[in-house]
Amino acid sequence: MIKKFLKTFLLIELLRGMAVTLRVFFKRKVTIRYPEEKTPLSPRFRALHALRRYPNGEERCIGCKLCEAVCPALAITIDVHERDDGTRRTTRYDIDLIKCIFCGFCEEACPVDAIVETSIHEYHGEDRGDLYYTKEMLLAIGDKYESVIAKSKAADRKYK
Ligand code: SF4
Ligand code: SF4
Repeated sequence: MIKKFLKTFLLIELLRGMAVTLRVFFKRKVTIRYPEEKTPLSPRFRALHALRRYPNGEERCIGCKLCEAVCPALAITIDVHERDDGTRRTTRYDIDLIKCIFCGFCEEACPVDAIVETSIHEYHGEDRGDLYYTKEMLLAIGDKYESVIAKSKAADRKYK
C-alpha cells in the first residue's frame, strides 16, 4: 500500500515514460513526413493497373481472357468482339479494385504484356464506384505512364 502510494506520489511511472522519450529522442527517426517524403518501394511492388498499347496506338489486349480466368478475386470482367479482319479486341475491360488483391496473376498470365500493374499507389475513391476501373480509365493510365512501364518491363525481362 505504502509502496503504491510512494510510486504515485513520486511520479515514478511518469519519470519512466520520460526516460523512454529521452532514450529515443536522439536516435535516428523512423517516421517520415508523408506525402512530402516517401519510403523506397520494392521493384516488385504492385499497385494500380494499366492497359498498354503498341507504339502505333493499337491496343495490345487481344481479348484472350486469360487474365479474367486466372484472377482469384474475380475482379476482372471482359467482353470481346471479333473484328472484320478476324482479330479480337475487348469491348469491355473492367477491374474492380475493391475486389483486387494485387496478386499480379493477371500480369503474369497476359501473353502480350497488355495488362500490367504499375507502382502507382497514391489513388483513392470517395464513392462506392470510384475504384471500379473501366477500359478507358485503364488505357488512359497506360498511355500516361507507358515510358515508365516499358522501362520496368525491360528490367523484368533482364532478371527472368
Ligand atoms: S492483381 Fe490479382 S486479384 Fe487483382 S485483378 Fe490481377 S489477378 Fe485479379
Ligand atoms: S489483358 Fe492480356 S490476358 Fe487479359 S484478355 Fe487481354 S491479352 Fe488476354
